[in-house]
Amino acid sequence: MRLDKFISKATELSRKESKKIMHAGEITVNDQIVKDPGLHVDVVNDDVMWAGEPLSVAAGNRYILLYKPEGFECTLKVKEYPIVTELIAVPELGSLRIAGRLDVDTTGALLMSDDGGWLHRVTSPKHEHAKVYELTLADAMDSDAQEKAVKKVAEGILLEGDYEPTKPAVLEFIDEKHARLTLEQGKYHQVKRMMGYFGNRVTELHRASIGHINLEGLEKGDSRFLTPEEVAKF
Ligand code: URA
Repeated sequence: MRLDKFISKATELSRKESKKIMHAGEITVNDQIVKDPGLHVDVVNDDVMWAGEPLSVAAGNRYILLYKPEGFECTLKVKEYPIVTELIAVPELGSLRIAGRLDVDTTGALLMSDDGGWLHRVTSPKHEHAKVYELTLADAMDSDAQEKAVKKVAEGILLEGDYEPTKPAVLEFIDEKHARLTLEQGKYHQVKRMMGYFGNRVTELHRASIGHINLEGLEKGDSRFLTPEEVAKF
């Protein structure tokens, strides 16, 4: 990779700004000051430093799990709320995409990557990766209402504005106000709209897992790279 491209990828400086710091003698490659922006660097083996601090770029695709806290928006452009990528310290944030967005007030497992084919496999209903949501309802549902809701969710619900019913899903009540919903698809606001169908409202929503990935060992706001085995299982 060209040195100016390497610096701009590693730091998010523009190519022009990268050239400026090179011309100022702030960049070394294998301990030699380099001012040639066209110098070829080996992203794995060359030792590139800016003012003595090592710079690196990812040598392959990145696969990241974030425990999303409430109050963060799943977009990559700054909007009304802080955005999820502010919680992640990796270079080239701009190339990451989100697999299955969560609402601002929803917490839980969020996967991100720069591998488009993999993102598609994670989110496509064809691949049937179960997403488990834990939810709190505004209004208590008695055992009769619970039984009816479980049955309807298993059959599929035609949500307002949709042409097809939701795919069969599994709803399990923990008590009158708390339930677990397992979905294999991800329509817009799906959980909230499904509970809305029963005249109820979701007051808290948490995604506990996506396929074989759960949040074990992470606190809210933490993130980690997936292992190659975890990536390959999707
Ligand atoms: N369904 C919703 O309604 N909201 C989410 O954040 C995720 C699924």
